[in-house]
Formats: sequence, structure tokens, C-alpha cells
Amino acid sequence: MRIDILTLFPGMFSGPLTESILKRAQEKGLLSLHLHNIRDYTSDKHHTTDDAPYGGGGGMVMLVEPLVRAVEDVRGADQGAPVILLTPQGRVFTQRVAYELAAHERLILICGRYEGVDERVRQLVVTDEISIGDYVLTGGELAAMVIVDAVTRLIPGVLGARWGAEEDSHAMGLLEYPHYTRPPVFRGLAVPDVLLSGDHQAVARWRRREAIRRTWERRPDLLLTADLSEEERWFLAELAEAEAQRRGAS
Ligand code: SAM
Repeated sequence: MRIDILTLFPGMFSGPLTESILKRAQEKGLLSLHLHNIRDYTSDKHHTTDDAPYGGGGGMVMLVEPLVRAVEDVRGADQGAPVILLTPQGRVFTQRVAYELAAHERLILICGRYEGVDERVRQLVVTDEISIGDYVLTGGELAAMVIVDAVTRLIPGVLGARWGAEEDSHAMGLLEYPHYTRPPVFRGLAVPDVLLSGDHQAVARWRRREAIRRTWERRPDLLLTADLSEEERWFLAELAEAEAQRRGAS
């Protein structure tokens, strides 16, 4: 996959995108990242990228011309790639959206700054708008890094066969089950027996149930759309019943 990032601060990306899994994904040729400085697309001698808003008010607005020129130049003849504006006003980024983006061969991300971009950038070149959550960042760079990270780990071959993303929290509409590793007992806390049993079927069943339990305790909203079997729905009912009894007893 190729990801182009348009930013005023390309230096922010070294570090997060040049370490660990993202670094290896690039070395393996599975991810090709291209940073473009929006300032390179200005046409005045001061390389201006923003100006005061028409109508007054505080803050600055990113100019339409450098951004549109940058997108058109980077996109070239490839009209099919989504051009995504990072903005707190966009659709909220979720694991489902990450899967959707990972299906593309190429993405173009625009990082805003200041009060955001001139509205005509949206009208002329943007095809999608994404927010990473209901809060406001100083710029789109961190949002772009979040998206690159979450999308890259879904590219086939990036995580390797033994470490798939299929069971991760949110991948199946549930939070993931709890994990344990050595030692088997630490400060009196023992690893559940089933995980040491060597019975793969029993382990899989335990994990699935713990994923349901954890989701029910922490994010019951997710269960409204989770794909559960009849047996799992009974398990959920038992959890609810036990909770009702606990509340009744206290
Ligand atoms: N005035 C804008 C508003 O109220 O919608 C916020 C501008 S914000 C200070 C500057 C830039 O940070 C935005 O243009 C956007 O690119 C980025 N940004 C801020 N919060 C974001 C979020 N939650 N998700 C994605 N990008 C965000």
C-alpha cells in the first residue's frame, strides 16, 4: 500500500513511522510512505500557507491554492485514491474504517493546522473526512499517524501468520480476552488453569467467553452489533443474571 501525507511538518513523522512494525513493513515493501511539504506548493516568495479568515475572527485558515496544487500533483493520474482530510468534523475512525481503508492500494492524507482548511479544499479535492475522536488536536499529523499505524497492521503480511489482527479488540465486534505469560503464579495471582491445559478447544472457548465477559463489563454498547451464537447469548444472559443478583444482594 502507498500512503501520501500532505503536511506542514514532515519532521513530526520520523520516529513513530520509522520504528518497529511500521519500519519493517516499509523494509518489506508492504508499505510505501511519502511525505509532502505543503509549503513546497506555494507560489509567493514568502511561501505563505495560511491567511486570516474572511469575516474576521481569531486564528488563521490554510490557503486553498497550495493544498489543491499539492493534492493534484501528488495524485497525478491516479484519480481512484481516496483523498482524506483529517478533521474533528469527519466520520469517526474505528477498526471498521481501518479495514475499509486497508482495502485500498493508495491513500492520500491531508493534515490541517490552525483553524483548518479553506472550505473549497473540501469541495475541490477531498473525497473523505476522518476524525480520530471527539476532541481537537493542534494539527492533523498525530491523527494521520494513528491512521497509518492502524491501517498498516491490517495489510496482509505485516503482522505475520502467528500474530494476526483477527482477534484484536474491535476486529470481531468484541474486546479481546485477557492475556497471560510466564510466570504461572506471580504474587499469589495464578494464570487460569485452562491456559496451561494444552487443550486448544477449551482455550478457544475460554477466550471467546472472556472476550464476551470483558465487552459486557466495559463496552456493553458493542454487544448490540456483535455476532454471537445462541450459546454465547445464553452466557451473556447468565452474566446479566449474576450481576442482577449481586446488585440485589448489596
Ligand atoms: N477549527 C477546527 C474545528 O473546530 O473543527 C479545528 C482545527 S484543529 C485546531 C487543526 C487541525 O487539526 C484540523 O484542521 C485537523 O486537521 C486536525 N485535527 C484536530 N482534531 C482532530 C481530530 N479529532 N481528528 C482528526 N484531525 C484533527
